[in-house]
Amino acid sequence: MRAIERENTSGWRLEQHCCRNCFGRIASIKHPDGGRTYQCTNCGLEGHGHKPDVVCSCGTKLRKYKGDGRTGVVMVDAGIRCHPNKRVSPEFPSLIVASYGGAQAEGV
Ligand SMILES: [Zn+2]
Ligand SMILES: [Zn+2]
Repeated sequence: MRAIERENTSGWRLEQHCCRNCFGRIASIKHPDGGRTYQCTNCGLEGHGHKPDVVCSCGTKLRKYKGDGRTGVVMVDAGIRCHPNKRVSPEFPSLIVASYGGAQAEGV
């Protein structure tokens, strides 16, 4: 009898997103309460939600102070998006990178 080992079916899957903290690759696993738990495979930053932006660079927010004199800070999307690295190099080997608008500058 041939036992089919499925040791690697722990449920984790790699996301096309990178950590907002260290730019490590994000992995996620289904959460019993719905949604997914997202975790950085490098620094361990963890979040729970329906999109990787609870931990990835897409969720990077900037503080924007209200200009009417009253106290209050709104967090606005910084416009940073994760995307596959178009130019993998020894200096910059990450498969997934993050940049403003998701548009990596083409060759310099
Ligand atoms: Zn990280
Ligand atoms: Zn992302």
